[in-house]
Amino acid sequence: MSAAELCARLIRFDTSNYGEGRSAGEADLAAWLVGALERAGYAPQLVGPSPARASVVLRVPGTDPTLPAMLVHAHTDVVPVEPSQWTVPAFAGRISDGYVWGRGATDMKDMVAMTLATLLSWAKTGTRPRRDIVVLFVADEESGGEHGALWLVRNRPELFAGVQFAIGESGGDATELVAADGRTVRCYPIATGERGTLHLRLRASGDPGHASRPHPGHALERLIAACHRINTHEWPLRLTDTVRGYIETIDRALGNEPELDTEAGVLAAIDRLGPAGEVAAATIRCTATTTVMNAGMTVNVIPGNAEALVDVRCLPGTEDEAVETLRGLIGDGIAWEFVDRQSPVSAPHPSPWFDAMRDAIIAHDPDAVVPPVCMGGGTDAKAFAALGIAGYGFAPLTADPEGRRPAGTHGADERTPVASIDGGQRILEEFLTRV
Ligand SMILES: [Zn+2]
Repeated sequence: MSAAELCARLIRFDTSNYGEGRSAGEADLAAWLVGALERAGYAPQLVGPSPARASVVLRVPGTDPTLPAMLVHAHTDVVPVEPSQWTVPAFAGRISDGYVWGRGATDMKDMVAMTLATLLSWAKTGTRPRRDIVVLFVADEESGGEHGALWLVRNRPELFAGVQFAIGESGGDATELVAADGRTVRCYPIATGERGTLHLRLRASGDPGHASRPHPGHALERLIAACHRINTHEWPLRLTDTVRGYIETIDRALGNEPELDTEAGVLAAIDRLGPAGEVAAATIRCTATTTVMNAGMTVNVIPGNAEALVDVRCLPGTEDEAVETLRGLIGDGIAWEFVDRQSPVSAPHPSPWFDAMRDAIIAHDPDAVVPPVCMGGGTDAKAFAALGIAGYGFAPLTADPEGRRPAGTHGADERTPVASIDGGQRILEEFLTRV
């Protein structure tokens, strides 16, 4: 089976993750992966907090035991679907019109399939990697990893012995851009960092009262004011080396000379990047926004308690600054705490590992432009960072020759071009064999 056909097969396991442990689980898919690997002569293990939430782990021994090991991780769960929004069945694993269709086609059963295809190809040709490669098909990424990556890091750290770096979700996929002179530029950003995730709960309390005689500074009024200060705060520009490298590399490839010493210059350069500018725009500063508010029972009663949840994303190197800023914005008289605090992560660049990923891409696409990129959100890489593992986002996909694009991530009609998956698998195999 090709990588694309494997991806379609994996989609037929409904591994929807409803969060808070309310999931059918990844067990059937994990068992299928174990069977496929065992038939190829590997010795995978099922690991996890319960049989239903099983992950699959496998260490492929390298030929040079002096080299540090690496980890390849890809999650097996998917976000739930709203079937009425789809024009194809979400779990049929259909291949048509040049696409693999279904939940997980982009996020991220494509990478699970490419990794599995590489292992099966190695088994057929008797190939071994240079260094030990730990392969992890991991459960529960979509609701935070408590039953997956975090559990493994806390309970089975010995599985990652000797691992110095990892590749995982997001990055290495081709975006086609058009230069000012009409040339097509194919850009494959590799993630070398992720913003941190800070989730805050704010609580205000005060005297309840009659709404016809509102007393100033009641709990809900103060909470609304604090959330408004957070939502409207203008966070300063913080151009990290990664984001600078991303903007400079692409803008130059498009034939421009970026001027990044002023905010206006940065914004102008991001504008020139077209579709590649979106991720840059999300990673030049911290962001914070209120997402949940709870207060009150009925319209004529001023509540004595009010609560809000705030989602904050901070760049590598800015976490302490962001927390101090938030403290000031929240102000006195409102209690607050972190309900989740995952620090930003970054991996070395330049580095021999980054170079090996870039070389594998260039071996298949000599004109490729390969910048580093910082991800706006988060992945399991944060969990593995706790073990000192540097995480890169590298799940390569090549450009479809007829211009099809992956689509529908976390939405409807999720799909990835067949050619992109099969091309991506060749890059991945090249990288994992040579690194
Ligand atoms: Zn994902």
